[in-house]
Amino acid sequence: MTRERVSWRDRYPEEVTCVRCLEAYDQMHLDRMLWCDSCRRRARERAGWYGWVGGLAFGATCAAYVWWVIRPTDLVVGGWVATLLAAVWIGQKVAREMVYGAMRFRNARAVEAVPPATGDGPTAGAEPSE
Ligand SMILES: [Zn+2]
Repeated sequence: MTRERVSWRDRYPEEVTCVRCLEAYDQMHLDRMLWCDSCRRRARERAGWYGWVGGLAFGATCAAYVWWVIRPTDLVVGGWVATLLAAVWIGQKVAREMVYGAMRFRNARAVEAVPPATGDGPTAGAEPSE
C-alpha cells in the first residue's frame, strides 16, 4: 500500500454509487466506469442474448449464400452444416462483444435503477411542501 502508486480509486470515497442501478457499493465492487459487479453481469447477459440474435442472423445469411450461390452437393452437406454452425458461433461472439462495447460506450445512466415505490399514486409529491 504505497502512496506512490496513484489509482483511479483514490479519487473516490469508500462508498461509490453505481451509475446503472444507483446502489451504493464499496468501491472495490465497481470498475472504473462505476459499474457494479451485478450490473456488469446483467449487461453481459443482455449482450449475450443480442449476440445470439446477431449470430443466428449472420449464420442465416451465410446459409442463404451457401444455398443459393455455392449450391453444395449432397456429398459435403455435413461439412456445410459444420461450417454454418461455426459461423453462428463466431458471429454470436463478435455480435456479443460489439453489443457489450456499445453498452459501455453509451454508458447510459441509471438503466438498471428501480424507481422507489411511493404507494400514493402519480400525484404524490406534486403538492408544494410549504
Ligand atoms: Zn449497478
